[in-house]
Amino acid sequence: MTAQDMFPIAGGCHCGNVRFVLHWPGKDREIPARRCSCTFCSKHHGRWTSHPSAVLEVDLTDADAVSRYRFGTGTADFCVCAICGIVPLVISTIDGTDYAVVNVNTFDELDNLSLSESPTNFDGEDTSSRLGRRERNWISRVSFD
Ligand SMILES: [Zn+2]
Repeated sequence: MTAQDMFPIAGGCHCGNVRFVLHWPGKDREIPARRCSCTFCSKHHGRWTSHPSAVLEVDLTDADAVSRYRFGTGTADFCVCAICGIVPLVISTIDGTDYAVVNVNTFDELDNLSLSESPTNFDGEDTSSRLGRRERNWISRVSFD
């Protein structure tokens, strides 16, 4: 995948402490948005996207003001901006590699994108299936500035 086959989607939290650019592969601008039904996402209406060939660059102005919230199996960190309370991304570290999903609600603009929204429910999935699914589907090229 060359750089010209990727298009950048900028986004971030409300106050600007967490900024990201998600480089999305391919030319069709249809982005899956998975409406997660876990107890946490139900409370903030999280809708998540990822692509195994995407590249995510994250820029934290104040990394100490990002709280990492874990629950359930404790294998994923919901990155919550401690200043404005928005949750732009989730990181799961598997064998030393950071895998990410991004909250489409935190994209700066949705105008040029088409979101295909679907419900998901991963209740009952065991931990090894869960980690395997993330390795296959989540964004594996994640960098923090
Ligand atoms: Zn913020």
